[in-house]
Amino acid sequence: MIAMKAIAFTEQGEIDVLKYQDVPAPTLIPDEILVKVKACAVNYLDIHARRDRPEIKQKLEKTGTLHVLGSDIAGEIAEISGEHPELAVGDRVLLAPCIPCGVCPDCINGYENLCDTQQLLGFQIDGGYAEFVKAPAKNAIRIAEELSFVDASALPIAYLTAWHMLITRAQLRAGEDVLILGAGGSVGSAGLQIAKLVGARIFATASTEEKLVRAKQFGADVTINYSQVDFSEAIIEETEGRGVDVVLEHVGAATWDKSISSLAKNGRLVSCGVTTGNIGEINIRKMYQKQLTIMGSALGTQKELRTLVHLAEQKKLVPIIDRTLPLEQAAEAHQLLESRKNFGKVCLLP
Ligand SMILES: [Zn+2]
Repeated sequence: MIAMKAIAFTEQGEIDVLKYQDVPAPTLIPDEILVKVKACAVNYLDIHARRDRPEIKQKLEKTGTLHVLGSDIAGEIAEISGEHPELAVGDRVLLAPCIPCGVCPDCINGYENLCDTQQLLGFQIDGGYAEFVKAPAKNAIRIAEELSFVDASALPIAYLTAWHMLITRAQLRAGEDVLILGAGGSVGSAGLQIAKLVGARIFATASTEEKLVRAKQFGADVTINYSQVDFSEAIIEETEGRGVDVVLEHVGAATWDKSISSLAKNGRLVSCGVTTGNIGEINIRKMYQKQLTIMGSALGTQKELRTLVHLAEQKKLVPIIDRTLPLEQAAEAHQLLESRKNFGKVCLLP
């Protein structure tokens, strides 16, 4: 068996479980491809996976081996198993991170992001914190020379999540007002770029002046330091009492009430995360009187990811990259995300 370098762990825990080491290279079954990883973006999801997500615990217990994180992978095809004339060794590809079952009613109806048995690269199966990764051939999306591996790797989790939230679910339109919470984070910075592309007026929150300056550089029209002011009061003031049409919410319990209070009549709140807790209250009377819509959003589909690749290839959408680090420094990347010091994506280079 051939070995490769990877960041892998045998037990979940704090940052020190991440060890750069030799692990067996993946071996293919029919209709899979082997990809030489050129860039792998880091997500907050990786930190949850490293710490305590049950899917990883189950996988480690079941296989008794190592786990490799990493869901956002771009690279070159090194090997193809089975007949796949649409792909060739050496092709530059981005990997769609989800592996849906393809046969359940949700998958058949085009809602593969809702598939109950879907697997995620770097989660139920080994991911891209490694020299090589394997995936089903159908997960490969070819990318043009114009799109760098680093920019491509930023797209799958953060940009796909933000796209599905703002475009598919909330249907944000030109001329509308949108509030992006935590504009420096993965989903926040992606939301900023997408809202700008749409032509919305963007209100962005962050916790430091430095991040607010960067949010402005990347297209925010109004910035709010939520560590100093009540952001919902600031929104009401800035919109002359009206509120915003759409709120991109991914914080959860800590911001829920203020996010709802920031909505205009007919406003839509779209949520994809609960970093600060699962439970939030809502004033039902205010909700119906203002005709509010509260909606959930779960990642996105490969079709949407292909749209993002197309936009990134044309440079209509340029992912915000905070920095790249060598794969060996995955622990530093986790530290950056945990301390929320980054603005945009952190990508690992094997
Ligand atoms: Zn399915």
